[in-house]
Amino acid sequence: MEGNYANIIVDISHEKVDRPFQYKIPEKLKGKIEAGTCVQVPFGKGNKLLKGYVIEVTDRVEYAVDRLKEIVRIEEGAVSAEANAIKLAWWMKTTYGSTMIQSLKTVLPVKKEVRQLLKKTIKRLAGKEEILFERNEAARKHQTAKERLLTELLEMEELPYELVTGKLGVSPATIKSLERQSLIKIQTQNYYRNPVKIENTQGEKKILSSRQQQIVDAVLSDHDQGQTGTYLVHGITGSGKTEVYMEMIDGMIKRKKASIVLIPEIALTYQTLMRFYRRFGDRVSVMNSTLSNGEKYDQFERAKKGEIDVIIGPRSALFTPFPQIGLIIIDEEHENSYKSETMPKYHARETAIEIAKMHGASVVLGSATPSMEAYYRAKTGEYKLFTLNERLTGGKLPLVHTVDLREELKQGNRSIFSEKLTQLLEERLENKQQTMLFLNRRGYAGFVSCRACGLVMKCPHCDVSLSEHKGGRLVCHYCGYEQPAVNKCPSCGSKYILGFRAGTEQVEEQVKKQFPQARVLRMDADTTKKKESYEQILSAFANKEADILVGTQMIVKGHDFPAVTVVGVLLADLSLHVSDYMAAERTFQLLTQAAGRAGRGRQPGEVVIQTYQPEHYSIVHAAEQNYEAFYEAEMCYREMLSYPPAAHMMAVQIMAKEEEKGEALAEHFSGIIKEEYKDRAAALRLSVIGPAKAGIGKINDIYRFVFYVKCKEYKYLTQMKDKLEEEIFTLQLKNEMVQFDFDPMNTF
Ligand code: ADP
Ligand code: ZN
Ligand code: ZN
Repeated sequence: MEGNYANIIVDISHEKVDRPFQYKIPEKLKGKIEAGTCVQVPFGKGNKLLKGYVIEVTDRVEYAVDRLKEIVRIEEGAVSAEANAIKLAWWMKTTYGSTMIQSLKTVLPVKKEVRQLLKKTIKRLAGKEEILFERNEAARKHQTAKERLLTELLEMEELPYELVTGKLGVSPATIKSLERQSLIKIQTQNYYRNPVKIENTQGEKKILSSRQQQIVDAVLSDHDQGQTGTYLVHGITGSGKTEVYMEMIDGMIKRKKASIVLIPEIALTYQTLMRFYRRFGDRVSVMNSTLSNGEKYDQFERAKKGEIDVIIGPRSALFTPFPQIGLIIIDEEHENSYKSETMPKYHARETAIEIAKMHGASVVLGSATPSMEAYYRAKTGEYKLFTLNERLTGGKLPLVHTVDLREELKQGNRSIFSEKLTQLLEERLENKQQTMLFLNRRGYAGFVSCRACGLVMKCPHCDVSLSEHKGGRLVCHYCGYEQPAVNKCPSCGSKYILGFRAGTEQVEEQVKKQFPQARVLRMDADTTKKKESYEQILSAFANKEADILVGTQMIVKGHDFPAVTVVGVLLADLSLHVSDYMAAERTFQLLTQAAGRAGRGRQPGEVVIQTYQPEHYSIVHAAEQNYEAFYEAEMCYREMLSYPPAAHMMAVQIMAKEEEKGEALAEHFSGIIKEEYKDRAAALRLSVIGPAKAGIGKINDIYRFVFYVKCKEYKYLTQMKDKLEEEIFTLQLKNEMVQFDFDPMNTF
């Protein structure tokens, strides 16, 4: 590509991002212009000179060439936040495959309306004694939201309004009632003219253990020497990772640099938030998915103006336009939510590393169960690895019982609760201790297994579980292999070979039937649809308003319930046999997290893992809480079948209104790759799998096909993507769409 033309946006703060204008690059500027370059261009009828940003350099003429105007000159000066954002968008587009506009929209918040930036806070008016009295009153009356707010006000004189209504889960009505009692005042200020400084309560600060201090020192001293890199902190929950993060952030503030902290939304409880807030006061800002675009924009403006030093949020917080970023922290780095599900399908980890390169910043990843990807890179030396393996608040590791459900069947127990779990549940109900029942259902898990011997029906080519589809056909979600339903176990001949369909609702019903005296709460996607219900259920359970909490993954992420002494995993196999290559990894993570929920208080905890495959390595090593052993076993499987991180994988998804057209396109595109690489396939360890109908073959009358390409090196996959993008452009597709997903974390 020569690069004769440039697509330029002239007003980046507005919705005009949708409408780039094309300009000719004059001879003297050729080769000097790239995505992100700020230029002067003539605009409109009067050819007024305007500042614009190049978003793309291309040879594709999109308008009549003779009517294109020329770029006048390159605007010199410091690199602006916009230029950085465009560079990043370009990187995302080329790395993950999407249009430049899609990428730009991901990294640049678009201002929709112009409004006054206001800051609302809740200020304590009454004295501490009065607040304390009212707090105790609220506690006595079980007004938990009110109690939470008053507790925080005992320590902090002022709290951001959004924090209180958001994470603290206090309703505006409750706040109003406190205002009427003259306990508090709601105040509104203009952000910029009147920034309030809340004194940093450094009293929150803990004296770090020598291990914690070593990590902080290593990262900061590398940073000071300009040897910034990526670090992985492998530490069990409660081992002091958050304390380490805060100390590093503090170090960055002293160096006048900003920090970005990514925490999955589901794990970002108000306790965690308050810890950051108490330590850094209003230099911290929080972002979450409930913010409107306008609110997000406000936050970004504050960051740009240097009014905050720290932003905490889910993956989109990465794009906060701080002038100078020193540190990006990704807590619970193994979480799925760090991968975008819409184009560009970027991963926060890789994107953070790219942003860090632009700023000379450091990246710190943390997890109790690191992703295979991150641990692999730590092992190969690409990341630096630190380990924290002691729980600072005491608490022993729980006692884990693995129950073989095949044996239960033999004993004639058809209930969803094994004998062991039943016994423990009864004991706990008697002793007024709490239990969590966990159903690790994830996605579409229609696997078929034998209740007598544990055999799971698998694809002979991909070594992943086959999914049961309508009519009983068994299908592989990678290669499309299909076979008819079986009514007899091919291994032991038992007729108890069936598909699995279990839901939290059924579990709740069963609990009520079998333990009528128990008070039960349920938490899943259905019961948490409303904005505050998630926090409400959690706080009700924390306040011991129930004996048993039944739920999905949501209940095992990062919450501390000291009174929980038993955790039951009802069917570990549910996440184990989802038909994708990450099933074992997810199972190990979920089981380890679930086990970590038991016995956080003084009483030791017990965990019951019910399964038809007690010998599976993910279950064995989770029961032992042995990460290293799991990693080694899982890596063998990934190596053998060239799944990431042993190799890279690209999913190409084709969506079409007409089924035949979709199928033909999928054949055509995969054919291009097969043909182009046929001689080099062995050398590059390249293979094309499929095409096949997607797992869910039709959504909203759009047919979906997919094929996968595995390859040792990422760069060949992006080359293939570029080639396909060219072809897509040439074909001028109207009713079809193609999406790419690199190192996909889901099957399609
Ligand atoms: P993680 O993020 O790994 O779950 P935290 O940083 O939340 O761990 O620490 C767990 C608990 O231990 C918290 O209550 C925290 O206040 C406490 N803690 C962490 N580091 C120290 C320390 N150096 N001294 C005393 N307490 C600590
Ligand atoms: Zn069998
Ligand atoms: Zn297959």
